[in-house]
Amino acid sequence: MYRFDNILILHQQILVFMENETKNQLNFIEEIIEGELKTGKYETIITRFPPEPNGYLHIGHAKSICLNFGLKNKFKGKCNLRFDDTNPTKEEMEYVESIKKDVEWLGFEWDNLCFASDYFEQLYLWAIELIKKGKAYVDEQTPEQISEQRTNPRSKGIESPYRNRPFEESLDLFERMKNGEFETGSMVLRAKVDMNSPNMHMRDPIMYRILKQSHHRTGDKWCIYPMYDYAHGQSDYIEGITHSICTLEFEVHRPLYDWFLDQIITGVYRPRQIEFARLNLTYTVMSKRKLLELVKGNYVNGWDDPRMPTISGLRRRGYTPESIRNFAERIGVAKRENTIDVSLLEYCIREDLNFKANRVLVVIDPIKLIITNYPENQTETLEAVNNPEKEEAGKRTLSFSKELYIERDDFMEEPPKKYFRLSPGNEVRLRYAYFVKCTDVVKDINGNITEIHCTYDPETKGGKSNDGRKVKGTIHWVNAQDAIPIELRLYDRLFKEAFPDDLPEEKDYKEGLNPDSLKTITALAEASLKHAKPEEKFQFERKGYFVVDYDSTPQKPIFNRIVELRDSWSKISNK
Ligand code: ATP
Ligand code: MG
Repeated sequence: MYRFDNILILHQQILVFMENETKNQLNFIEEIIEGELKTGKYETIITRFPPEPNGYLHIGHAKSICLNFGLKNKFKGKCNLRFDDTNPTKEEMEYVESIKKDVEWLGFEWDNLCFASDYFEQLYLWAIELIKKGKAYVDEQTPEQISEQRTNPRSKGIESPYRNRPFEESLDLFERMKNGEFETGSMVLRAKVDMNSPNMHMRDPIMYRILKQSHHRTGDKWCIYPMYDYAHGQSDYIEGITHSICTLEFEVHRPLYDWFLDQIITGVYRPRQIEFARLNLTYTVMSKRKLLELVKGNYVNGWDDPRMPTISGLRRRGYTPESIRNFAERIGVAKRENTIDVSLLEYCIREDLNFKANRVLVVIDPIKLIITNYPENQTETLEAVNNPEKEEAGKRTLSFSKELYIERDDFMEEPPKKYFRLSPGNEVRLRYAYFVKCTDVVKDINGNITEIHCTYDPETKGGKSNDGRKVKGTIHWVNAQDAIPIELRLYDRLFKEAFPDDLPEEKDYKEGLNPDSLKTITALAEASLKHAKPEEKFQFERKGYFVVDYDSTPQKPIFNRIVELRDSWSKISNK
């Protein structure tokens, strides 16, 4: 119930966002930084975005990117892109390249391109210092034993029998670990912190483990690899990061982050870790493990499948960098976790494309319409406005003749009250063309309508009558002579569950997948779409926003549905 309330609240938030732009307010991190710059604690700031190259970036990462690079832009500082590549078992160059592309596409520029693996030598030397100072030791127990001895936060931990071994022994073993003399998993280097701390991360955390695995950058040079907690803060220090911004789950790691820094800091400079709430979004999953599983298990067509919450998926779906940056701005930066309704993301792309996307006429489910009083061999050219929101988008021409196609559901033989579209005896406007009135229909032997017959009023060219006569409905159409067939990929939400991560334990999150998240159909489009290029976006009038897919060719144009014109999922949409 709580979750459900949450979504409704978020829906209302959308309406508030629409009226009340939050752009000029500072978030809590910006307030901290502004204060520090004023008091002279820093002259300039440096942030970093530190992805692990073990998958493609998703919309959650986009929030972190917009925050870190946004701080750089706002305070005229710097921001590094740092690959946190300390675990060779899951990392690949393909991911490094995709991450660089996504950050650039979002519109940001890093000051330095960094890799934690470039610091392996320095991290190793600092580890040796720690051993010499009696603050680290080699432990020959199994990971299971080590974990058991940590017990639980309410009890004291059990010290390892190796905890107080002479530092010379640890030094010798650590060097031999590095030289590859021992098997994976046979021993680790641990920091000697506090086995009785109520914070489990402080109970002698592991600093290094043996992994006999080639690294995508350092090859076989190393077979010991530093753990996140050790590598991260020290890498921040090496790069001169002033504000190390991460998600809330790292709050409990902060004492350890500071402890490791205490061991190397000599002057006044010290990086500061600040935590913010991660982005959670309805109707999707965001853990890289799950996204990888969806890709490897062919539940989707790759990392850039337009249903994926990945940045590359959103790009292929037709999202613009501006819409994602606006989304990040609107959701803000908070200290408490919540879940944002995906409708807000959809609102942001509609808002952007309303100004950017040219309008075109496409009939998705065609039925033939014949204008019986239109001259047999005549074709005329009509003018159509490309974008009523943007005058400079100009006009284009549409060809018009006796045989057209209209949308099947724009006609009803026996219409209910207040049906203003086409029905026998009723007159409607054909967009940019004429008023037409339905006279009769042709049916097949099963009683299905195959043709609609109309007459047109030649005096209503351009959609206006001279005698002040009004029609209530305007419908779109394409000319049967030159309409082109196009493939439409109608994407919907990947999950039918709003919170796929929250299913009862016996259920797998994949059970929440929406079986109807992709429908492929053929539609008929106005001839101008023949020349559309991949990534070009359009509003199909009355139908939604669409983008040309990368698979598209002039012989076989393919369009992805970005979003419908109105939110059909939302309970409080104004349909
Ligand atoms: P995994 O899903 O494997 O745990 P991750 O999402 O933590 O991975 P990283 O590559 O470690 O991925 O993340 C890079 C940065 O992006 C980190 O600073 C992390 O805190 C931030 N980040 C990750 N997910 C989100 C999210 N949902 N919202 C905001 N920031 C995020
Ligand atoms: Mg992570």
